Amino acid sequence: MAQKLQPRFLDYTTAHALNDVFGTPIYVYDQKSLEINAAAVLKFPNAFGLTARYAMKASPNGAILKIFAKAGLHIDASSGHEVHRAMASGIPAAHISLSAQELPADLSDLLEAGIQLNACSLAQLERFGQLMPGGQVGIRINPGAGSGGNNRTNVGGPSSSFGIWHDWIPQIKAILVKYDLTAVRIHTHIGSGSDPDVWLKVAKMNFDIVRQFPDVTTLNLGGGFKVGRMPDEKSTDLQVVGLPVKEKFEEFAVETGRQIHLEVEPGSFLVANACALLSKVQDVVSTGEGGYEFIKLDTGMTELLRPSIYGAQHPISLLQSSEKSEAKDYVVVGHCCESGDILSPAAGDPELLATRELPFAEIGDFCVIDGSGAYASAMTPKHYNSYPEAAEVMLDLDSTPKLIRRRQKLEDIWANEL
Ligand SMILES: *Cc1c(COP(=O)(O)O)cnc(C)c1O
Repeated sequence: MAQKLQPRFLDYTTAHALNDVFGTPIYVYDQKSLEINAAAVLKFPNAFGLTARYAMKASPNGAILKIFAKAGLHIDASSGHEVHRAMASGIPAAHISLSAQELPADLSDLLEAGIQLNACSLAQLERFGQLMPGGQVGIRINPGAGSGGNNRTNVGGPSSSFGIWHDWIPQIKAILVKYDLTAVRIHTHIGSGSDPDVWLKVAKMNFDIVRQFPDVTTLNLGGGFKVGRMPDEKSTDLQVVGLPVKEKFEEFAVETGRQIHLEVEPGSFLVANACALLSKVQDVVSTGEGGYEFIKLDTGMTELLRPSIYGAQHPISLLQSSEKSEAKDYVVVGHCCESGDILSPAAGDPELLATRELPFAEIGDFCVIDGSGAYASAMTPKHYNSYPEAAEVMLDLDSTPKLIRRRQKLEDIWANEL
């Protein structure tokens, strides 16, 4: 039998206690892990100062935003709604930067309040110019290379619509002149990577862009620091990827006399492994010889969509009242009437089933899906099959569970229907 996988921060006793109070499924966040991750990001190597932002779309609960704000992180928002959500939890507008695919209708109010905008298209830059002639703006560039895992996570290169394509710099400059704007920030975010060579390459490309904008004082290298969720996956070592980047900033200063401020804005890195999804085995079925043994959970794509759409791998473990010596290979599925609701797809291929070796499973066992902090609660097809939105709980520094989002009442699902 393979070595049994242990949940990161839940054990049977804690799971049992949480279930008694809150039921399942629930997202269980760990404040200690959040603070450790924030501290690591705030130590990102830098030559002339650092602003570290939390890309809040990864997990936007106000309790998480407050913990990060207290630690010293600023916010990267992906929509006007996220800006409002951050401000509603007490984040000052001046600590929020917006890089969005769609500009909000109330952009002018948000700019007046003091948020920073990174224009992500030529039309967005025009709009900024019309609203804030003579203003200071950031420019998000698509530098022409991405390091994302697949077409759905790649955010750089010709097949990505994020940012202004690097060949359109003359058009950017024309708009800057037209509205008397100053480009003060260059922003790029090119997707998940942990390879220092890729980081260095990206930093070099970015400095080629910074060189063309003499008023730029800040370079934002985005997020996308790869996080290992499975035991055999590696996480980005920020000291390792950051040191050559820091040297690049120093070289640029020697060459041009310009001391550029660094911004980074990870999402996943800060939250991915700081949350576990706690659920229960609600059925175990078999499709006979040549078939599969299935574990059906009381959760699924309604709480964790990543396996279904990316073939993402999450650690799955069972917590049982009595240890079983026997193990079996199981396909782990969710509770939706949807064949794609699979929690153990083949790695990187959501079309294929894979199995996990787990102890002999029984109805009522607890099942922990680790690595459920990023793009989990934040990114769900909630209400599919009319399952109410799950509760969220924070284990504080004393490991005391605090409810940070109630389980939705069933009636809330149809509350807006007329
Ligand atoms: C999503 C996003 C991030 C964070 O990406 P992660 O992969 O979660 O680190 C950072 N910056 C921008 C502009 C984003 O859209």
